[in-house]
Amino acid sequence: MKVEIIKCLQDNYSYIIVDEENQIACVIDPGEAEPIINFVEKKKLHLKYILNTHHHYDHIGGNLELKKKYNSKIVGFKNDKNRIPGINDFVENNQIWKRDNFESKVFHIPGHTSGHIAYHFYKDKKIFTGDTLFSLGCGRIFEGTYKEMFNSLNKIKNIPLDTEIYCGHEYTLQNSKFCIRYDPKNLSLRKKIIEVEKKLKEGVPTIPSILKDEIECNIFLKARDLESFSKLRDLKDNF
Ligand code: ZN
Ligand code: FE
Repeated sequence: MKVEIIKCLQDNYSYIIVDEENQIACVIDPGEAEPIINFVEKKKLHLKYILNTHHHYDHIGGNLELKKKYNSKIVGFKNDKNRIPGINDFVENNQIWKRDNFESKVFHIPGHTSGHIAYHFYKDKKIFTGDTLFSLGCGRIFEGTYKEMFNSLNKIKNIPLDTEIYCGHEYTLQNSKFCIRYDPKNLSLRKKIIEVEKKLKEGVPTIPSILKDEIECNIFLKARDLESFSKLRDLKDNF
């Protein structure tokens, strides 16, 4: 299973997972259709599935155009059936979503939105975290509570440490500035920042990150309890 990183809109990432043997593909969070179509056509793929992490426009903007063009199935959280355009494959917490050679476990991870989910492709050691866990950061809490977001991040912390993290935006550098401000002595973080700056200078995404690095460097994953997490989230909102 190969993951192609596709830049969308301002700073969004969509991901195309390709089963190269069968030329079948899934796209995660197509913020817009055009860059997805370009890749699919170039590689002559059959885009059978569209997977959404949540209903925000920058994650679903390409849904209907892609569905119309490729007759793709649109997968999303069942409680969000009224706000994910074109949804016709409903999933719920802890469900195994398995189609063709794609196999992932769905985590309901509310906080950013009430219906936010992640897709954990456990056999491939990859997780698609949308706007919940970013590299060196976490999403803003729009619809949920601090407690929900804190618990959602803790769920992700429990999967294998060598899992690759694919998130919804290229926010890593900006996030790193907040982390280093409040965790200045963290040597792993300093090392990570050098890597991030190098990648961006070369024009390549800082994604995927590895869960182990996030646990060592991401100040939101290092928060020991709900109180310190909430404080950090407030500070970041005003950073
Ligand atoms: Zn969002
Ligand atoms: Fe977003």
